[in-house]
Amino acid sequence: MGNRIYNVVIIGYGGMGSYHVQLIESNQQLAVGGVYDIVDYRMELAAAAGYKTYASLDAVLADQAVDIVLIATPNDVHKEIAIQALQAGKHVICEKPVTITSADFLDIVEVAKKENRVFTVHQNRRWDEDFRIIKDIIGNKTVGELFQLESRVQGANGIPGDWRQLKAYGGGMLLDWGVHLLDQLLQITDSKIESVAATLSYILGTEVDDGFTSFIEFKDGLKAVIEVGTTNYVKLPRWYIKGTEGTAVIRDWDLSGEIVTRNPDVAHVEPKPIQAGQGLTKTMAPPSEESTLKFPIEKIPAAAESFYENFVSTIEGKAEIAIKSEEVHRVLVLIETIFEAGATKSVIRRTI
Ligand code: NAD
Repeated sequence: MGNRIYNVVIIGYGGMGSYHVQLIESNQQLAVGGVYDIVDYRMELAAAAGYKTYASLDAVLADQAVDIVLIATPNDVHKEIAIQALQAGKHVICEKPVTITSADFLDIVEVAKKENRVFTVHQNRRWDEDFRIIKDIIGNKTVGELFQLESRVQGANGIPGDWRQLKAYGGGMLLDWGVHLLDQLLQITDSKIESVAATLSYILGTEVDDGFTSFIEFKDGLKAVIEVGTTNYVKLPRWYIKGTEGTAVIRDWDLSGEIVTRNPDVAHVEPKPIQAGQGLTKTMAPPSEESTLKFPIEKIPAAAESFYENFVSTIEGKAEIAIKSEEVHRVLVLIETIFEAGATKSVIRRTI
């Protein structure tokens, strides 16, 4: 670890901006250099918390003491702030979804390259423990060859806040939570996507989607269901994955769940028929205990490097950025394809 301390100024001191303060302060090489928000009340809160407040974005960008600009505003203004900050010579971290369209994102990437500054997107859920456990289960082939994956987040509280309900601000659940789940999905396989089908939900009557279900097929045969809901009073599991040798489930953020696999040491034992409603079934009976193995979901060690540690190492030329532009772009193209599939009610066959 180097000795230099980098000053980070937070643009947009709302829910996420004020959370970033904690992440920044826990890194020895980063300091919160100040805050800028267009709403006076948010600036008062920042000042009360002891942070320097800037009178304008221009004032932040003109300050030579500012090394990094962190953008935590609503989605519609990410692009203009990012480009101005890069052109002012700052490194930039932008909240997700980085932009509302994939074309807008490429404009930022071009400026970052020209200005030779580090630009990345806070896809923090790549560090989520549930995701890292699932990735390990898949990578270690604990359930054999993966052929089906279901990843969901569901709540019953509708779309929170104000701007998230408005299209002009880049609202809606596909851009909000979808961007996380799709980013995680694309980290799970190297295979290209072959086709996308989707249905978006407008139950709440907002102009943006309050959830969606997408069906994504990869060239290697993996089929994924990615789903976000805000009208689910009862939730389905966070993760459900099937492989040739078993099934794993993680039910919730508390990591409750289990892995059940075929027992390789025991020849198949016929299950006993069970009463199912008004009939008997062997097909839908649980597999016999003798022929299966059951494992708990084990916690895993923290990732070697956090998001911010990686960002600092990248600035210092000691590491490659964890969240790469090509990856961010691919997720945005996938989001656009899901919108298109939903609007046209068709299966889009496209290599992504
Ligand atoms: P929020 O509404 O709570 O906060 C946004 C803040 O930005 C507000 O204080 C608002 O006054 C300010 N603002 C608006 N326009 C501005 C401008 N032009 N210049 C300066 N300040 C401006 O929203 P939020 O929930 O904090 O979301 C902010 C961003 O963070 C969004 O992009 C969102 O998607 C993202 N986010 C990411 C995560 C994550 O886990 N990575 C979680 C929540 C939100």
